[in-house]
Amino acid sequence: MAALKGAAPRRAHHLLHLTALPSLCVSCAACSVSTLIHCLLSDMDMDEPVMISNFIGGEMVPCPHHLDSHEPSTGRVWAKVPDSGQAEVDAAVSAAHAAFEGWSSKSAQTRANHLLRIADILESRLELFAEAESRDQGKPVWLARTLDIPRCVHNLRHFAHAIPHHLNKSSVNPEVGVVNYTLREPQGVAGLISPWNLPLYLLTFKLAPALMCGNTVVAKPSEMTSVTAYMFCKVLQDADLPAGVVNMVFGRGPSAGQALITHPQVPLVSFTGSTATADTLPWPQHPCSRSCLLRFVHEAMGGKNAAVLFDDCEMDSCLDTLKRSCFVNSGQVCLCTSRIFVHQSVFKEFLERFVSVAREVKVGPPSKKESFMGPLNSKPHLAKVLKYITYAVEDGGEVLCGPEVDRSDLPALNKEGYFMRPTVITGLSDKSRCIQEEIFGPVTCVLPFETEEEVIHRVNDTPYGLCASVFTSNLARGHRVAHKLKVGTVWTNCWLVRDLDMPFGGVKSSGLGRESTQDSLEFYTEAKTVCTKI
Ligand code: NAD
Repeated sequence: MAALKGAAPRRAHHLLHLTALPSLCVSCAACSVSTLIHCLLSDMDMDEPVMISNFIGGEMVPCPHHLDSHEPSTGRVWAKVPDSGQAEVDAAVSAAHAAFEGWSSKSAQTRANHLLRIADILESRLELFAEAESRDQGKPVWLARTLDIPRCVHNLRHFAHAIPHHLNKSSVNPEVGVVNYTLREPQGVAGLISPWNLPLYLLTFKLAPALMCGNTVVAKPSEMTSVTAYMFCKVLQDADLPAGVVNMVFGRGPSAGQALITHPQVPLVSFTGSTATADTLPWPQHPCSRSCLLRFVHEAMGGKNAAVLFDDCEMDSCLDTLKRSCFVNSGQVCLCTSRIFVHQSVFKEFLERFVSVAREVKVGPPSKKESFMGPLNSKPHLAKVLKYITYAVEDGGEVLCGPEVDRSDLPALNKEGYFMRPTVITGLSDKSRCIQEEIFGPVTCVLPFETEEEVIHRVNDTPYGLCASVFTSNLARGHRVAHKLKVGTVWTNCWLVRDLDMPFGGVKSSGLGRESTQDSLEFYTEAKTVCTKI
């Protein structure tokens, strides 16, 4: 890797070839894909941005127009993302449509073998992907290395192993001499729209079950974080996935995204993003809208997730869990905790200790292993999060720590990065903006409560319903409260430890539908029952 540093002409040569085409550089037999990507990723002085192409019909297809994508920790342009529109989406859907018959008629085992090969190649490039995800999204490299990329590998392996066992069912009735069996049939081209906070993690969470069920795919990753999806296209090529089975169109939501979800040849759409965007999506005008809303659209949206701490909670382990659930990935995980309700008898103790935990969080360059938090993903997003702190003050809240970063502590390269510090606020009413609206940053509001009944009501009193956590040593109370919370997932004395077999999704404004082995199978297929007299 050190040998690559400073080799600018050679790097430029690699860059050219990476954008133009294939998995191996044709004019330089010595270099492997991994070397090519490493050239792109390893040199911090690289001043040429990564030039991203669409991936259509198994080929890297350059796009005439590009958007700038900024590296969150420096503010510099580090990637040029295709600004795709209807023409690019039409070409991708047409390639996916053409590949559908061949892919859907393969056995589940053959499809699984493809996914397992993709998982193996991705795993062998884990470090490169972790570095790229970190530079593109802003999360620390250690987080991408231990959470994001391993989870992508797990997504592929999990669905490759699990889906074949759930595909078909049969029953025999000897009294009437009939055998019934059910076929789960793929639907065609699945349109997958994913956000910037967990870029490849959420993309592969959709892609793996869609493919295993026999659909072909056109994916549109977030325009803010497209680099690892682009690198993943090379993995697909190297794994010899048949051309057109997966196509990737990069670009903005209102152009590329909208063209994809309204395309008449895309009967399935899985969207993960904000509730604000979901509210504007044009489902009712969709040509297949009659069935669309109830059966063929899956939406995973925002949250205003609460933690409830009863007086019998294990305070040390609570603080440890809440440090992660409030501030990991700079609070930019849809499941992050943003409201903490604390029983009044331990409120003062908790608040003091939680503020010290927040003050001790190390914020810094994502490449440094001691940085617990990197920057936020973009300048506009940082501005939005900071605006909520102004709202908190206007609404009578007290800001106990954060949000200012001491920029003199940051290396020169990172002075223009989108950093802020963990921020803890108290003294707000339940109807204030910070308590009702999704902030999606490292901002946590702490509120006291008196009774179990009261806190259940207050946790449920927002438009959202993604997840909640309950901390108590009383098992019966933990279950009792979990049953009454209006959310899709409740963690008791833990956070972010869901098995992929268990349904994931939200209620109210947090989503429509669920993702899991069974739920994804039902979403990405339709059942057909065959009844045969024997
Ligand atoms: P976003 O809604 O701005 O964008 C999400 C995706 O939708 C992007 O790919 C974007 O280009 C696309 N898009 C935007 N407008 C579109 C349109 N008109 N038609 C089609 N596609 C369009 O969300 P974001 O800012 O990227 O992500 C953060 C949000 O995602 C937060 O609200 C977070 O809670 C939510 N999220 C939810 C989950 C979940 O599982 N519930 C997971 C991760 C993130």
